[in-house]
Amino acid sequence: MHYRSTRGTELSDSPGFADILLSGLAGDGGLYMPEAWPELSPAVLREWRALPYADLATETIGLFTGDDIARPALQEMCRDVYGTFRHQAVAPLCEVEDGLFALELFHGPTLAFKDMAMQLLGRMFQHVLQQRGQRATIIGATSGDTGSAALEAFRGLENVSIVILHPEGRTSEVQRRQMTSVTDGNVLNIAVEGDFDLCQDLVKAMFADEAFRREVGLSAVNSINWARIAAQIPYYFRAALALGGPDREVSFAVPTGNFGNILAAWSARRMGLPVRRLCVGSNQNDILTRFLLNNDMSMRNVEPSLSPSMDIQVSSNFERLLFEMLDRDAARCSAIMKEFRATGHMAVPHDAWQAMRDVFEGTAFDDAQTLEAMKTFHDQSRYLADPHTAIGLATGARFREAGIPMIAAATAHPAKFPDAVRQATGLEPSLPPHLADLFSRPERCTRRPGELAAIEEAVRAHLHRA
Ligand SMILES: *Cc1c(COP(=O)(O)O)cnc(C)c1O
Repeated sequence: MHYRSTRGTELSDSPGFADILLSGLAGDGGLYMPEAWPELSPAVLREWRALPYADLATETIGLFTGDDIARPALQEMCRDVYGTFRHQAVAPLCEVEDGLFALELFHGPTLAFKDMAMQLLGRMFQHVLQQRGQRATIIGATSGDTGSAALEAFRGLENVSIVILHPEGRTSEVQRRQMTSVTDGNVLNIAVEGDFDLCQDLVKAMFADEAFRREVGLSAVNSINWARIAAQIPYYFRAALALGGPDREVSFAVPTGNFGNILAAWSARRMGLPVRRLCVGSNQNDILTRFLLNNDMSMRNVEPSLSPSMDIQVSSNFERLLFEMLDRDAARCSAIMKEFRATGHMAVPHDAWQAMRDVFEGTAFDDAQTLEAMKTFHDQSRYLADPHTAIGLATGARFREAGIPMIAAATAHPAKFPDAVRQATGLEPSLPPHLADLFSRPERCTRRPGELAAIEEAVRAHLHRA
């Protein structure tokens, strides 16, 4: 399988999976997409019904890795990774209301759906780097969830070091401890004296420092990495096949931030899974729902909400859908994205918007509505949902149609957001056993001022010590 950029101006040969795994973003600023979509017949999908999750993941992801990762190696990685999940079914379905299902994606080590892809990404990085005799240093900034998922995925790997910057004193205690209690030798946690935006700016500055970038073999695992999208596709097949697919249509509702998870659902549909509707759920940061309602894609300032993983100004993976809806016209896609960056307003051609509307619905819930939904699902079905999951379920409830199962992505464990759960239901969600001692675990963290030189020095010192 080869890949091309959504902005399509790269002169080099179309890269393979291993290249795009390590590089993440295309050199022209675009996002990588498969050169051609794999297409699956109903007969193949029916056979997939019988596969355990890890093997279904191997089949699906193998379509995108091509020859870059040998099939037996990929299968071993999938079995290892999904074998450690706390639920034997890996991503179980729970019927919350008549015809409304929660697809639970939070049974991985850090209790959020990011583990579904990130865990596998760690193994893939190690495999590809070892094959090439290379080392890499992953650097990222986090306001909470992505950082701990990345640390859990990359801890202890031989050919990769991982450095995560977080704003000192500005994450919840659970979030901080989930990061700083990872004390493997290849891990460096830096508490930066400053806010999340400063952390992000520092990471960007390190990537822009060409000499430093080469010196430490800098790499990123943010949500625009195609490998992450690929690893999120299998659970959509799995859920639909469990409820009668491909001989029956289903719909999906996804609490959406960067548009990665719902793009994976769209990809499954593009590959031949009969999916009727894809429903985007937002919080008050509702750029996507405004777009779907009125073709108005305009940036606003981010407002903090009870569902912080959906607090976004723009949804970076939306560019991939736009590229598809423009019939893969990279020049047009590039022009539209550049104008969006410059003006804060995206002019999506009417026919492309209409084509999205044929499949996508969107709706937004503010914090009060989110708490209300959490209370309702608990009162009526004894289902305890975190704020993100509650938005997914409420979105699904809004667009449910008779006779068509509505499957909502349940993206975080309620114990990850105890304050909101308490506020909505009066209940105290408990951490699962493997995290029960989180508050007594030793922490390791380096504190640095928010200056580029200080951070780069800390990274160098860490790499030389390791
Ligand atoms: C990341 C995240 C989301 C949003 O997913 P996207 O792929 O960015 O749309 C939703 N819920 C939770 C709990 C998350 O961690």
